Amino acid sequence: MNKQLRKAVIAGNWKMNKTPAEATALINEIKPLVKDATCEVVVCVPFVDLHAALEATAGTNIKVGAENCHWAENGAFTGEISAQMLKAIGVPYVIIGHSERRQYFGETDVTVRDRVRAALNAGLTVILCVGELLSEREQNITMEVIGKQVKIALAGVSAEELKRIIIAYEPVWAIGTGLTATAEQAEDVNGAIRALIASLYTKEDADGVTIQYGGSMNAKNAGELLSKPNVDGGLIGGASLKAPDFATIVMAAN
Ligand code: PEP
Repeated sequence: MNKQLRKAVIAGNWKMNKTPAEATALINEIKPLVKDATCEVVVCVPFVDLHAALEATAGTNIKVGAENCHWAENGAFTGEISAQMLKAIGVPYVIIGHSERRQYFGETDVTVRDRVRAALNAGLTVILCVGELLSEREQNITMEVIGKQVKIALAGVSAEELKRIIIAYEPVWAIGTGLTATAEQAEDVNGAIRALIASLYTKEDADGVTIQYGGSMNAKNAGELLSKPNVDGGLIGGASLKAPDFATIVMAAN
């Protein structure tokens, strides 16, 4: 397995944090710390912060992402934002299927699939989140759950479009809890996801897919997690709100 075949991507997921002015300040703090990064650096921010983030990152190596998008191009969906709207303002990345969306906002594998389709149609790159609950891990059905999530989300995604999919393996029990999967657990699941993608596409296609780990990744544990052959980066929540911690994780991926 050759890590050189794919891009390492460290993405921050700011969740529902930071006003536009605070977003600008945090990005200005991050910028000098990651300017020599060889991996892709992304900050995924609340919708209202996107303009500020795009402005603050202009001309830098930091890319901007949204935290969700709707499946329709437009229409009667009060409070929602379409992938076309994100594309129109110059946002290249979008997170889809985060476990908090699945847990609190009724997101299902089918709505995740439809949002992925909309994002790809609009030309965005998707960070597709998958992960098992603690009870599912305890019942030894982790890969059944993740296999189903991946297969449904990728239904109808062509090999060409697969190049714009990043998968973030995020065990739900590790998100925001301080509990981290061991590097071996992350490697096992990421490797199994890659094998599944190889069975759905080709081995060459699968080798090109960036598969991140997410779940309480921090400045201390990032090095070990990112040293694993199938852990190609991270989706970082809490630690992405602290510039030095986020930068340490970015540098660990270099
Ligand atoms: C996340 O929100 O995707 C995440 C991994 O959060 P945390 O790093 O805080 O666990």
